[in-house]
This record gives sequence, C-alpha cells and structure tokens, in this order.
Amino acid sequence: MEIYKDPAFDMACEQFRIVADYLNIDQNLRQRLLMPKRAITMTLPVHMDNGSTMIFQGYRVQHHLALGPTKGGTRFHPNVSLGEVAALAVWMSWKCALAGLPYGGAKGGITLDPASLSARELETVSRRYMQEMIPFVGARTDIMGPDMGTGEQVMAWFMDTYSVHVGYAVPEIVTGKPVSIGGTIGRREATGRGVAYLVERVFDTLKMRGDESTAVIQGFGNVGSVAADWLAHHDGVKIIAIGDAFANVYNAGGIDILAALEHVRRRGSLAGYGGGEMIAADELLTLKCDVLIPAALERVITAEVATKLQCRILAEGANGPTTTDADQILFQRWEEIFVIPDILCNAGGVIVSYFEWVQDLQNFFWSETEVTDRLFRILEGAFTGMLKRARGQKIPHRIAAMSIGVERVVAAKVSRGLFP
Ligand code: NAD
Repeated sequence: MEIYKDPAFDMACEQFRIVADYLNIDQNLRQRLLMPKRAITMTLPVHMDNGSTMIFQGYRVQHHLALGPTKGGTRFHPNVSLGEVAALAVWMSWKCALAGLPYGGAKGGITLDPASLSARELETVSRRYMQEMIPFVGARTDIMGPDMGTGEQVMAWFMDTYSVHVGYAVPEIVTGKPVSIGGTIGRREATGRGVAYLVERVFDTLKMRGDESTAVIQGFGNVGSVAADWLAHHDGVKIIAIGDAFANVYNAGGIDILAALEHVRRRGSLAGYGGGEMIAADELLTLKCDVLIPAALERVITAEVATKLQCRILAEGANGPTTTDADQILFQRWEEIFVIPDILCNAGGVIVSYFEWVQDLQNFFWSETEVTDRLFRILEGAFTGMLKRARGQKIPHRIAAMSIGVERVVAAKVSRGLFP
C-alpha cells in the first residue's frame, strides 16, 4: 500500500512473504494478516520557547485486533515516518504472538529530535500527542509504551494527560511508567535483561563461557546499556566496544560500563568518553567479538556488513536491524553465526509491559523476583520453541520465530472472521 512506502515496511512485507510461503498461507488471508487495521496521523502544533509555533508530525499504527488490544512503543526520532511506524507495528504483532501475549501489535512516534527540545517543549509535544490519541487508545483498545527517544517521564505525561481527561487515574493506559504511579518494578531493565538472558542461553547451547567472551554493542540507551551492564557484571563478559549516535569507543581490555553510564548520565552521550579509543561508526559492527548486539536503529546490518561480521552470536536488541538481503547471507553462515532474531531477542520489554498492564488492571503489584522469574520463563519457552522448529525444519531462526507468531495470529483471525 502506497501510504506505508518505506524501506522498513518493504522489509516487513518481504519477511512476511517468506514466512507466508513457508506456512503455505492462503492468498486470501495474506493481505488481511499483513496490512494494518488502523493508521492515525496527526499534526501537533507547539509554542516554542523562542516565541515561534512549530508543527510536529505524529503517527500511530494499530496492526491487528484479533488477539486483544494493540500494544506498542512510542518513538521520538528525526527519522520517524508512517511507513517505519507501520513496520514496527507489524513486527510487534509477531513478537507478542510468539511470546503468547494477548495483544496485536502497534507502534507510534513523532518525527523530532528530543535532544533539540527544552524540557517544557518536550512535555508540551508529548501531552499534545496523547491528547490527539485519546479517541483511539484505551486499556482495552491500544496501550502505549516507551521506545527510542522516550522513557518513563514521557509515559508519565501520557498517563497524566489521559487521566486528567477522564477525571481519575488510569495507570493501565500506558506501560513503562515510573513505579511511583503504577509502573512495574523491572520494566526499565526488562528489554536489556531479556537480551542478556537469551545470550546466556546461547552460551549454554554453544558451550561457550561468558567470562571468556567479548561483546560489541551499538546503541547505549535503555536496551544497549542494560544488556551491557548485565553481561559485564553478571556473566563476566568483556565489553570491548560500545557506540551511540555521537561516538564509538573501543577498548581491547574491556570498557568500564559503570563509568560509561555515568558519563552518559552527566553528558547525554558517549562523546568525550575517555575510557578507550574512538573508532569510526562503520568499524563497530564488524569488529571481531563473540557477541554483537545492535541496539539502536533498524537496517544497520546490510548484506555488505553481513559478509564482514566477525561475531559468533548476533543478538538483535534493536527492532529490524538486519535487512532481508543480509538474512540470506546469515543463513549461509548459520554454522558460524547464531542469530537471536529481534522478535525474540528484545521481547523482554513487551513481556514486562504486559505484566505491568495486568498489575494495573488488578491493582495488585508483584515483587522484582516474581517479575524476573516470569519474564525468564516466557523467554525460555519462546527460545526453545524457536530452536526446536529451526532445527527440526532446517530453517533460519528468524523464519522459525516469525512462523510461530504468524501461525497464532492466523488461528485467531480464522476463528473470529473478517472483523479484526
Ligand atoms: P534509547 O533512546 O534509550 O537509546 C537509543 C540508543 O541508540 C542511544 O544510545 C542513541 O544514541 C543510539 N543511536 C541512535 N541513533 C544511532 C545511530 N545512527 N548510530 C548509533 N547509535 C545510535 O532507545 P532504546 O529504548 O534503547 O531502543 C533501542 C532499540 O531497541 C530500538 O530499535 C527499539 O525499537 C528497540 N526496543 C526497545 C525496547 C524498549 O523497551 N526500550 C523494547 C524493544 C525493542
């Protein structure tokens, strides 16, 4: 469909076509499964600090309604477009279904660079976005969460804007909120911790040891930094390179992750961090290492990068980091590189978001141990399910994981009929 034209959406369509062929899905069902149910675009005018009025463009795509409400993050980034948001919503559907969550996928975003706005401007545009979305969201309709460029504070503004509108607190309208207003313990860490758990599982599977392994991580935000911290301090992995949108740092002796985190907390990025030598962005992904974790943007592992990868495990923390051309190369290199596909690798975030939603609906809150144990149990089931299918059918991990998710959506759509 022309309105979604975008390289990320093309990639989501191509991946779906491969899986639909593999599952032999009826042609009559394919478009219904792939095309988003709803897409909302909005114009968000904001009074800026300098007296001008700026217009921002916002989006929300709700992919399917067959399994329950839709669920998905909100991204604030200069590259956000309707097509990118639609691709992310589609991936979110397969991810939720793979994890067995009662959701369809959604995603939203605003085309802006959050670092270029003052705190007041960011709050105004966040609240305005939620205000425009009020007719289209609800705890049983569509539940937002954080994504790149957003976090607990933006979720708190969303929750407050919605609650002021209805006249009482509605914590279950968003996930990823601060714990003080109904967020769950462990949500902020959930995605990175899930990435680390799956890397540990692959260490076991491949008979590798964490304390003899090295890792390289692109993206040092919520996902990348938590995964780095956990792998370094829980498993003894030596993190030899990290990068963000501003700088890439290499240290063969291992980067001091706590010092890097402190630097980012004070300075906003890795720029100027002295704990290693600065390298070029395009060197990072092809460094020799045991674990490579892309945890920033989509489509960074192209066919060219895939031929040059020197990692043993590719753990996709980001959504859609690997292009379909690169996938073919990775499949040829399957004995050298173990891929943990994005819809499994970063599913920890939506799994704990689901826990947050359940706790908010029941007004009954769990301990950190309960959250983490349940998270690992769901990831374990999804991981073993993927591995069993991939090995049994001799298919790539991505196709195995996606096909399990797609199958579940097919079953729900076929049972229900045309509506969702
Ligand atoms: P974040 O905003 O907290 O951090 C993003 C990081 O990526 C920052 O360090 C930023 O500087 C870096 N980055 C941005 N552009 C870059 C570029 N061109 N090159 C290198 N680095 C760049 O975002 P996040 O929440 O950590 O999300 C990262 C990825 O993980 C995204 O793909 C997101 O969709 C995915 N994801 C996030 C969650 C979650 O719970 N936050 C859940 C699932 C998937």
